[in-house]
Amino acid sequence: MAAAPVLVWFRRDLRVADHTALHCAAAEGVPLAPVFVFDPSILAAKDLGVRRPAYLYACLESLAANLQSIGSLLIVRKGHPEVELPALAKEIGAKKIFYNKDVEPFSRKRDAKVDRALQSQGLEIISCDDLLIHPPGRVQRAAGGPYTVFTPYSRAWLSLPPQDPLPRPRQLSPIKGIKPAPLPPPEQVGIQPCDIPLPPAGEKAARDALRAFAAKNLRHYSERRNYPQQDATSRLSAHLRFGTLSPRTVLAEARRVRVEDPKSRREVDVFIGELIWRDFYKQILWEFPHVASGSFRPEYDRVEWENNREKFEIWCQGRTGFPIVDAAMRQLNRTGWMHNRLRMIVASFLTKDLLISWQWGERYFMEKLFDGDLAANNGGWQWAAGTGTDAQPYFRIFNPSSQAERFDPEGKFIAQYVPEADLLTYPAPMVDHAKQRIRALEMYKKARS
Ligand SMILES: Cc1cc2nc3c(=O)[nH]c(=O)nc-3n(C[C@H](O)[C@H](O)[C@H](O)COP(=O)(O)OP(=O)(O)OC[C@H]3O[C@@H](n4cnc5c(N)ncnc54)[C@H](O)[C@@H]3O)c2cc1C
Repeated sequence: MAAAPVLVWFRRDLRVADHTALHCAAAEGVPLAPVFVFDPSILAAKDLGVRRPAYLYACLESLAANLQSIGSLLIVRKGHPEVELPALAKEIGAKKIFYNKDVEPFSRKRDAKVDRALQSQGLEIISCDDLLIHPPGRVQRAAGGPYTVFTPYSRAWLSLPPQDPLPRPRQLSPIKGIKPAPLPPPEQVGIQPCDIPLPPAGEKAARDALRAFAAKNLRHYSERRNYPQQDATSRLSAHLRFGTLSPRTVLAEARRVRVEDPKSRREVDVFIGELIWRDFYKQILWEFPHVASGSFRPEYDRVEWENNREKFEIWCQGRTGFPIVDAAMRQLNRTGWMHNRLRMIVASFLTKDLLISWQWGERYFMEKLFDGDLAANNGGWQWAAGTGTDAQPYFRIFNPSSQAERFDPEGKFIAQYVPEADLLTYPAPMVDHAKQRIRALEMYKKARS
C-alpha cells in the first residue's frame, strides 16, 4: 500500500528554505500537500487595514512559485481552518500534519481548535518551533521561569548555541489527483487593493535584501542605525513578519560577516541584539498573553488618558507642528514602514505629549505597517509608554525637538516628508512640550499611587 501523504500548513512562514515544518515533513519521503487557508476571521478583523493582506497575497504568489520549482503545488482553501484542514486531510487521505507554532493568543486558540478537529479524525499533529531563534521556554532564568528584563535575557540567549539554518528541500513529491490551480484572485478571498505600492515581497526579495545589507550597512549598523535619513537598517522586518526569511538564516549571515570581517564585530553584535529583541517580545507574548489587551504592569491600566480624538487624528495625519513627528507619521502613511528611532519618538509623543493611550497608537500602527506584528508592536508601544516589561521608565520623556536635532541634524529627513516645515503655512506646535511633560508625570503618578 502506498504511504499516506502528509499536510504542511503554511501560516506566517511563507518560504521553502530553512522552514522547520516543511523540512521535517519532507524527511518523511512521502507525497506532501502544502496548504494555505484564507481565514475570514482574520481578514474581517477591524484594525487589519488593507496593507498586510495585500502583502501577504504577494508573498503567497512567491511561495506558490517556489513550491512549484521543487515539484510541489500549493493548495489554497478559504474558510475556517478547523473545518478546511480536516476536510482536505480526508480528501487526500493524509494521516499527519506539520505546522510551525505561533505565539499570538488568537493563533494559539485557533491551533488548539484545529488540533482537536484533526485528532478526532485520527491525524497525528507535529507542531514545530520555528518562529523564534530560541523558542519560548528555552531561555529561562536559573531559578526557572521566564525573563522579563531584556539584558539578562539577552545574556542567557547568547550563551545558547544557535541552530544552523535548514536546507531548502530539493524535490518534493506531489499529491496525486490534485490539479494545479492558480491562486484565486485577491478579491475572491477577501483581499482589497492596497492604497500604496507594495514593498518587495517573497523569498527572493528577502534573500536579496539580506545579502545587500550584509555587504554594506550591517558593517556600520550601530554607527548609522539611529539616523532615519541614512536608511541604514536592514529593512527585513516585513520579511521576518511573513516568514519569507527565517530568523536563523539572518543570524547565520550576521555571524558569517562577524567572522569574515572581525573589524565589524561590534556593529554586528548590535544588530544581533535586535534579533534578540524580536525573540524577547515574542516570548513575553507567549508567557504573558495579557499584554495583548492591557498593560504588562496592571497598575498602568489605571492611567487616566485624555484620549482626545481630534488630537489623535492630527497625530495620525502628521500635522502636529513638530516636524520630526510629522515626517515620521507621513513616512508611515505613505510607505507602510517607519524607522525605529521615529517609532520611539512618535510613540512617546502620543502618550506623553498628547496623553493618549498607547493602545490607540498600537492599533494605528497595526493598520498601516507592512511589518505590523503583535509582539514587536505591543512591546515597542508598552516600552515607550512605560507600561511594559523592560520599559523605559514613565518619567523619561523624549523631547521631540532635541531628538530631531540629534538624529536629523541637517533636517534632511524632515525635508523629505515635510517640505513645508519652514513655511508660514506649517501649523504651530499643537501642544507646549514642557507643560505636557508635567501633566504626563502627574497622570502616571496618580495611576501608581
Ligand atoms: C512603537 C514601536 C512599534 C514597533 N512595531 C513593530 C512592528 O509592528 N513590527 C516589527 O517588526 N517591529 C516593530 N518595532 C521594532 C522596530 O522598530 C522594527 O522592527 C524596525 O524598525 C524594522 O526595520 P528594520 O527591519 O530595518 O530593522 P533592523 O534595525 O534592521 O532590525 C532587524 C530586525 O530585528 C527585529 N527588530 C528590530 N528592533 C526590534 C524591536 N525593538 N523589537 C522587536 N524586534 C525588533 C525586526 O524583525 C527587524 O527587522 C516597533 C518599535 C516601536 C518602538
